[in-house]
Amino acid sequence: MGRIHNKVAIITGGASGIGERMVDLFSKEGAIVIAADINEEALEKASQKENVYGMKLNVASEEEWKELVKEVKDRFGRIDILVNNAGISSEKPYQEINIDDWGKMLSINGFGPFAGMKHVAPYMTEQKKGSIINISSYTAQIGQGFNHYSASKGAVRAVSKAAATTFGRQGVRVNTLFPGIIETPMTKSLEDSKELLGRLVQATPLQRLGQPEDIANAALFLASDESSFITGAELVIDGGFSAQ
Ligand code: NAD
Repeated sequence: MGRIHNKVAIITGGASGIGERMVDLFSKEGAIVIAADINEEALEKASQKENVYGMKLNVASEEEWKELVKEVKDRFGRIDILVNNAGISSEKPYQEINIDDWGKMLSINGFGPFAGMKHVAPYMTEQKKGSIINISSYTAQIGQGFNHYSASKGAVRAVSKAAATTFGRQGVRVNTLFPGIIETPMTKSLEDSKELLGRLVQATPLQRLGQPEDIANAALFLASDESSFITGAELVIDGGFSAQ
């Protein structure tokens, strides 16, 4: 029997990178997985997997969250796990970041996880049980990234802690992961600069970049009952980069 056997899990951004790896791992461990993503084409591929249901969701849309949550509840009867993983990044230098860039980034990366918790937590509190995992970034922990991306991930950090205290008494746990640089489509541009890549690896105590499964494995632990006394926790997964 899998580690999250028969649990119903929503994973946002489930069509690519870290989210896609989580979808595979969670379904392998026995869960019914809803891969929710804005990229419908990529979702078709996800939906072909056993026990995986691709559903369209723009995490910045409250209407779409409402519809998704209702559909999941109607179809599967419960929601046990939510992973707020969907996100965008930007390589704009700070001198060029304007209010529109800021607004878009904060809508998807900041409001998205908040809206997910807002709409899913009530179902979980009714069940008196649930596990929410939010994906922030190491840039929210250390002085790296003077930009809207880091700000959005700082927002995730803050609301995650607050959600843990808000929903804890009703049996809902909320924990946050802080990935370092992980090899996914989001960081693909790094491949163009072998020199930068080399420097990043050099600067990492464990001497490699992260892989999607490094994050998926931690999310699985936090999603499962193995972590039933853990809430409000922050786990940095960056090969020791930010420990220096
Ligand atoms: P990715 O680009 O491979 O995947 C992101 C997914 O989110 C895509 O499938 C995309 O379609 C989806 N998405 C984007 N906007 C959306 C929206 N509005 N609604 C729904 N889905 C949307 O990226 P990834 O590297 O797998 O990143 C996953 C998460 O991990 C992100 O939150 C990212 O910020 C975070 N993270 C990544 C790294 C890294 O180095 N890759 C480091 C730290 C944190």
